[in-house]
Amino acid sequence: HAKAQGRNRLQRFALGLDATSALALLQENRLREALRAGRLLLHYQPLIDLDSGEVRRVEALVRWNDPVEGLIPPERFIPLAEECGLIDAIGAWVVDEALRQLAEWHRQGLDWLKMAVNLSACQLESRELPQAIAEALARHGLRPSHLELEITESAALRDPENAAQVLTRLNGMGVALALDDFGTGYSSLSHLKLLPVASLKMDRSFVRGIDSDPEDAAICAATIALAHELQLNVVAEGVENASQLDKLKRLGCDLVQGFHFSHPLEADRLAALLGSGARPWLNGGAAA
Ligand code: C2E
Ligand code: MG
Ligand code: MG
Ligand code: MG
Repeated sequence: HAKAQGRNRLQRFALGLDATSALALLQENRLREALRAGRLLLHYQPLIDLDSGEVRRVEALVRWNDPVEGLIPPERFIPLAEECGLIDAIGAWVVDEALRQLAEWHRQGLDWLKMAVNLSACQLESRELPQAIAEALARHGLRPSHLELEITESAALRDPENAAQVLTRLNGMGVALALDDFGTGYSSLSHLKLLPVASLKMDRSFVRGIDSDPEDAAICAATIALAHELQLNVVAEGVENASQLDKLKRLGCDLVQGFHFSHPLEADRLAALLGSGARPWLNGGAAA
């Protein structure tokens, strides 16, 4: 139906109906061209295991490098891509590029590293997704356990039956699944029961106030307890300072991610950070 939406917009544009659609169409064409010309790129942000202080995986985050505007964040083009049907091509590119990079890092000796990739709702609607993921893993000589896919509850909700089927197949292959931005949007505890997820990522809107706002602190504590009762791993997103980290440690959070440890980095800078053996987050200092 994404294609039909694109067609509708084209028709409206042809009829000269509104300037907003004309702008969107222009932007759509620029995005299509950017993908074709190789102007999308990935940055990588480490997830740190709180027991050991080690990085276990990195999350791939897409950016659009526009010659005029510079780096454009995903929130400014992923929604557009979802609307105009470009998301499948972009999503396939992201998976391939992230796995290509991971295989290269494995060859350089970082062979313990895993990769997390975000999926959008539209990608979950495709029954071919598990096959496409399997092919991408094979292409780069990686095992399914090297990959974790992050999905949001709202994405899984768009077509719950189909999403549950696709995710169950992926999980059956050995790909790990994480529920992203947990606690926002249309959260429902039944998703935790229905979807074969291995981890919960607590949204950074709750983590932000964990050391200052009693309600945020209570939500984080309850989320961590719930995750553990369900034998799930819990990741805190958006950890920006030592005081939040301290609180998360005391609540028994498993993994942390955020500017306090490292911003999302270009591949080379991330590899330098991991390969240096220096783990600045262990003594409280942040990288980049
Ligand atoms: P997300 O998956 O929840 O990713 C985490 C976002 O939080 C990233 O924003 C990251 O840069 C940001 N972040 C990390 N640590 C901190 C922190 O300490 N403080 C603050 N304020 N922010 C922090 P980014 O890279 O702009 O991505 C935004 C969203 O765009 C992602 O949220 C994800 O939903 C989506 N996205 C990114 N890459 C992809 C992709 O390849 N495919 C799809 N479908 N969506 C993507
Ligand atoms: Mg994510
Ligand atoms: Mg998130
Ligand atoms: Mg988020």
